[in-house]
Amino acid sequence: MSKFTKEYIITMEDIVREGDPILREKTKEVSIPPTEEDKEELQCMLQYLKNSQDPILSKKYQLRAGVGLSANQIGLNKRMFASYMRQENGEALEYMLINPKIISHSTAMTYIPESEGCLSIDRSIVGYVPRYRRITVRAYNIHGEEVKIKLKDYEAIVFQHEIDHLNGILFYDHINSKNPFELPANVDITPLY
Ligand SMILES: [Zn+2]
Repeated sequence: MSKFTKEYIITMEDIVREGDPILREKTKEVSIPPTEEDKEELQCMLQYLKNSQDPILSKKYQLRAGVGLSANQIGLNKRMFASYMRQENGEALEYMLINPKIISHSTAMTYIPESEGCLSIDRSIVGYVPRYRRITVRAYNIHGEEVKIKLKDYEAIVFQHEIDHLNGILFYDHINSKNPFELPANVDITPLY
C-alpha cells in the first residue's frame, strides 16, 4: 500500500510541483479491475478536492482549492484522476476515473478568459488555453466498470486539463508562445464566459 490510503489527508506538501520529471511523463495504464491500493488512492485524491473546497478544512490544512487532481500530481505513475466540481444548481459532480481517453470532441473550442490554474504550478501564468467545447471520454470507474461520459464547457476543460497531466502535458504548453492572447486561426473559438 502507498501512503495514500483513504484515511490519509493529502496536503500541499504531497503535491508534486512543476520541475519534477513525473509531471512530464506519460503515465502508465492501470490494470482492470483496479487493486485495493488504486481504489484507496483515488478516494484519497477525491477527498483532497473536497477538503480543499471546504472553508474550514482548507484553512485548517492550508489547502489550495482544486477541482481536479491527477495521480502523477501526488507522485504516482498511474493513469487515473479525481475531479470534484460544484455546479450552479449547488449539486456537485464527482469522478474517480481510470485510464480515461477522449474518444470524440467538437470542432468548436473555448477558453477560460483568466487562463487556467494548477495545483502543481505556483507562479501566475497569463494567456489563453484553447480547449474543445465538448468531449466524450471513455474510462473505467473505481469498480472497474467501463463508463462513457459526455461533458461540455467548464467540465470539459477540467477533464482535458487532467487528461493532459496523465500525458505529461501542462496547461501552459497550449498557450501561444509569441502572443499568449492569440487564438488559433480558422477555428470556431469563443470565451467560456
Ligand atoms: Zn493541473
